[in-house]
Amino acid sequence: MIRKFIGKVLRRPGRRVVHAKHYGIRRDQLHSGALKVCDRLQAAGYEAYIVGGAVRDLLLGKSPKDFDVATSATPEQVRHIFNRSRIIGRRFRIVHVPFYDRGGEEIIEVTTFRGSAESPTDASGRIIRDNVYGTIAEDADRRDFTVNALYYDPNTEEIIDFHHGIEDLEKQQLVMIGDPVKRYHEDPVRMLRAARLSAKLGLAIAPDTRKPIRDHAALLENIPSARLFDEMMKLLLSGKAWDCMQALRAHGLHQPLFPLLDKLLSQPETAKFLQKALENTDQRLADDKPVSAGFLFAALLWHEVEALWQKRLAAGESKISALIDAMNDVESKVSKRLAVPNRYSAAMKEIWLLQPRFEQRVGLRPFRLLEQARFRAAYDFLLLRADCGLVEKSLADWWTQFQVSDETERTAMIDLAAKNGQSGDAPAKRRKRSRQRKPAALKQSGN
Ligand code: ATP
Ligand code: MG
Repeated sequence: MIRKFIGKVLRRPGRRVVHAKHYGIRRDQLHSGALKVCDRLQAAGYEAYIVGGAVRDLLLGKSPKDFDVATSATPEQVRHIFNRSRIIGRRFRIVHVPFYDRGGEEIIEVTTFRGSAESPTDASGRIIRDNVYGTIAEDADRRDFTVNALYYDPNTEEIIDFHHGIEDLEKQQLVMIGDPVKRYHEDPVRMLRAARLSAKLGLAIAPDTRKPIRDHAALLENIPSARLFDEMMKLLLSGKAWDCMQALRAHGLHQPLFPLLDKLLSQPETAKFLQKALENTDQRLADDKPVSAGFLFAALLWHEVEALWQKRLAAGESKISALIDAMNDVESKVSKRLAVPNRYSAAMKEIWLLQPRFEQRVGLRPFRLLEQARFRAAYDFLLLRADCGLVEKSLADWWTQFQVSDETERTAMIDLAAKNGQSGDAPAKRRKRSRQRKPAALKQSGN
């Protein structure tokens, strides 16, 4: 009790300033665009710092995903200084300043220091608008975790630490600033951020920050499905997607976001499939390779689609129409929680629809399948299924071989598949037509 009290007194918030060099951080490790934004804002007489995840990641020796700037200038004042910038957001107004770096556009997000005045909330305590501006100290209080309330001044090369963030990084713990229950009510997404950041950075969630999460998970039901989708993407693209999914379940956060996770993780084959899909994603990100959201969602939802597909087939529906109906059922169920944008769900559905076509190794069909724009993703998906024993490995091997073979070899492969009875079912319509054509063929061959 006394120790806890002393601990609280010792951890009183307050401004601590350390030199970044002590932690091995040099100005040249920072994004040139973020440095320019800070320099120009400071030259115009405003305070400006690189803040949040970038400072935290540099202290952890990781390379930051993005660079955010916090300033005393209002969004309009920032907008005035950078002529290509634009103000976005309603709930939180921020300014996007674009820079052209390494061949592409990179955005530096500039936020104005938030004030401590109470922001308007809805019935559940959720902040619905937060555009009251304040000082840097007030801004620090409004940030989520102590390790995210770190401000780096590129000109003095000092880090300002308001909530013992550096100490918590050293202790490898994630601690919510203020009263965690109140902070979760204000913005339930903070619970998802706790799960993601702890998995991604290898930090333990401190007991007081962790304990209320399970009981407050249902608050996420109040969050718009578009924001939940964004958070889901951050979890999946964190570089630790598999760990993040397990963390979601461990903290009871998957129910409002992705309730299927229970079913997936409770069966060894489906858990293995998900683990492989997500670990592949993590590896691709580590190798700086692109990752397709359509592929990820195809993997996350495949088992549900397959289960409904089988049910419809058993009820007598035809193969492809049963698959299409199953896909639509799953899509509409998921969209109530996660607003998956059309461009991703279209890719996801194409990957699913191409799966039964891999079985049709007859005539020109394999050649036509090869020409499909989504062939590569669908083939990778087939490999994943084969890897987990969800489809014959010989089918995946056949397609691996088919791709590297020349025209004559390909035709021979198709003939051999026919001989071995591996041509798959032709779609119903085609079958009917070929039956009609049969007598003519018989006549020709003289039978
Ligand atoms: P990442 O590595 O994913 O970018 P991050 O902590 O930088 O992690 P951002 O979404 O880029 O995450 O947010 C930037 C900063 O804004 C955070 O470090 C934190 O200080 C603050 N922040 C973001 N979301 C919230 C929130 N929901 N509540 C309070 N502060 C937040
Ligand atoms: Mg960030």
